[in-house]
Amino acid sequence: MTTIANRLQDILATIQSTKSIHHCKQHVNLLAVSKAQASSAIREAHAAGQTMFGENYLQEALEKQAQLQDIAIEWHFIGPIQSNKTQLIAQNFSWVHSVDRLKIAQRLNDARPENLAPLQVCIQVNTSNEVSKSGVNPSELVALANSISSMPRLKLRGLMSIPEPTQDVNKQRAQFKQVRECYDALLAKGFALDTLSIGMSDDYQIAIEQGATIVRIGSALFGARHYDQL
Ligand SMILES: *Cc1c(COP(=O)(O)O)cnc(C)c1O
Repeated sequence: MTTIANRLQDILATIQSTKSIHHCKQHVNLLAVSKAQASSAIREAHAAGQTMFGENYLQEALEKQAQLQDIAIEWHFIGPIQSNKTQLIAQNFSWVHSVDRLKIAQRLNDARPENLAPLQVCIQVNTSNEVSKSGVNPSELVALANSISSMPRLKLRGLMSIPEPTQDVNKQRAQFKQVRECYDALLAKGFALDTLSIGMSDDYQIAIEQGATIVRIGSALFGARHYDQL
């Protein structure tokens, strides 16, 4: 039987080989996406050396955090954010990848406790031009990045994106490239960024090729998601 520890080793090896094939210079971190996975699975991954975990749903995350207080985990919030959730997110996570509007950034900043380090944030970009999808339009990026940079309790680290699902490798590459271009444009404007959070189980090798510094991987590490077994 393949264990979480085996799959973790395989994914880390694939990250390294992908970097060397494409001569990537950036450091690539693995964010283990544990939504719909039991705390016991997180514990197993942690025992195998994984420290960064990502969750999408606040209540589910808080329950697991309570069950896992005895181990050192860096928690990342990666799901859609409603304004009434900002306080608990600001209090209970080290990172938020899904900031997509000024109001949410402002509320996270206001709620970030003084005894914690500034909240590390990425702006979620929507490159698909689908109005329904979350993420800021690339044309609004500089304004939001400017606002967040002036907030003392937030530290802007970079961009996150969830491309439209497609099996077409060329489309995957084109979507990641577009996020990468937004990122490079912010760097050129002088924003001190170091994080490009792109790539999931099915496309992380292409994301790395396009410059990913964090890949967010769920099912390839933990197996299929089972909400009924939580
Ligand atoms: C669920 C999720 C992932 C992980 O997806 P997999 O395909 O299982 O690797 C990554 N990022 C976000 C924002 C997610 O919601």
